[in-house]
Amino acid sequence: MLSVEEAQALVLSDLTQLGSETVAVSQALGRVLAQPATARTSHPTADVSAMDGWAVRAADGLNLNQIGESSAGHPFKGTVGKGQCVRIFTGAVMPTGADSVAIQEEVRAEGAAITLAAPAPLGQHVRKRGQDFTQGQTLLSPGRRLSSRDIALLAAMNLPWIAVNRRPRVAVLSTGDELALPGEPIPEGGLPNSNSLMLMACIQEWGGEAFDLGIARDDFDSLVAKAKSATGCDLLITTGGVSVGAYDKVKDALAALGFSAGFHKIAMKPGKPLMFGHMGNLPVLGLPGNPVSAYVSAVLFLKPMLRRMQGLSPALPLPVPAMLAAPLPPGGGRQEYLRAHIETAQDGTLAVHPCPAQDSAMLSELSSANALILRPIKAAAAKAGDHVPVLPLD
Ligand code: AMP
Ligand code: MG
Repeated sequence: MLSVEEAQALVLSDLTQLGSETVAVSQALGRVLAQPATARTSHPTADVSAMDGWAVRAADGLNLNQIGESSAGHPFKGTVGKGQCVRIFTGAVMPTGADSVAIQEEVRAEGAAITLAAPAPLGQHVRKRGQDFTQGQTLLSPGRRLSSRDIALLAAMNLPWIAVNRRPRVAVLSTGDELALPGEPIPEGGLPNSNSLMLMACIQEWGGEAFDLGIARDDFDSLVAKAKSATGCDLLITTGGVSVGAYDKVKDALAALGFSAGFHKIAMKPGKPLMFGHMGNLPVLGLPGNPVSAYVSAVLFLKPMLRRMQGLSPALPLPVPAMLAAPLPPGGGRQEYLRAHIETAQDGTLAVHPCPAQDSAMLSELSSANALILRPIKAAAAKAGDHVPVLPLD
């Protein structure tokens, strides 16, 4: 059996970043920058006032004559001479000749006669042209996942369009005679297909575009017919039919379409059965049918693949240390991923509560979890207060 780390390395080994596309900045949230972002204009575009008040000459005295007004979007056209000032508002362009702003709270105005309470030092309350950034300056680098704050910056850089890496197109195929669509009649003893919706949500959350290939019946023809529809995608995910006995069905059907298997067993719990290989150029990841196993395998394999394809680094999830709230038994022969809940304690440390039951079919528990505790193979028993590595899920 492969270790999780070996399997992750194999899955990522020949996976390359997808090409780029141009999108409107308004549509770029969560996308990954493909090229350096360079400012088309300086910010601010001119010297502007940071306050409401009067634009003055720092060298002048306290008694001034107001000769006009400058408001945001409506600059004063003239020049401020000796003994003169201009009424100014936040964001308005500093008039030629003026070099300081006296805030209105410290000024007495009687008509055009303006009296400052104190001299205004040079440059006071003035935002210089390009103080934030200048035209031609590169501010964001490729590989950055764009946040709402980045969107504001790109807009201020006067960039309406931006090159981002393409979203991975991922086809999702569930397998099983016992499955029904949520809301449809359930075969006797069967259950609703939760994996397809879960995986499509994961793909969306992790930056991909999901395509639902539906549910294949547990027979060769149905599997082949459904799997064919993955043509044109960047990745095919199947769930179910990979455990011992069932495994060959999915593998044989995919083999008829050119699939060659890389591996199909990993030393992990939940989720030992995991199939990986290629159908021509198309990578195929066969996840276990048990929903919790499918989810944990998706976190450990699908998410890194999507990150690599989008050009995000690092591709693999990084564990963080958290303090155990309850003891844990020694680890077994497979690396375990225990469903758990993390919370930040009053002193700011991260505390982790293992979920009481660890059943790979229990979705109620999975839903209540927001982290996985990573238990290495043969880990020693741990007591409350010990620090253990966890993978946060949100
Ligand atoms: P399998 O790997 O096909 O043997 O499935 C293992 C377990 O997972 C069985 O109890 C299946 O009913 C269940 N299962 C398989 N596929 C799904 C699915 N798409 N949604 C929910 N449960 C599933
Ligand atoms: Mg099955």
